[in-house]
Amino acid sequence: MAQGREFYVDPDLCTECGDCIKVLPQAFRTVEDEQVAEVYNFELTETLLPKLQEIMTDCPGHAILWKDK
Ligand code: SF4
Repeated sequence: MAQGREFYVDPDLCTECGDCIKVLPQAFRTVEDEQVAEVYNFELTETLLPKLQEIMTDCPGHAILWKDK
């Protein structure tokens, strides 16, 4: 299972492009009745972590952030 490190979408930065949901539907979805993305699962398997890094870099709003412990 995952490294367990939590990440989240800052709704003020999200441009509602939907790319993270396309790339990693295992972790992202839209907030109900809105277009803004949210994280519903951060327990990703190791194999999905490169995809997470990719979308964190590619997110146009740089809205996907690590949570500080
Ligand atoms: S990729 Fe970034 S800007 Fe696009 S929906 Fe996801 S969090 Fe929002």
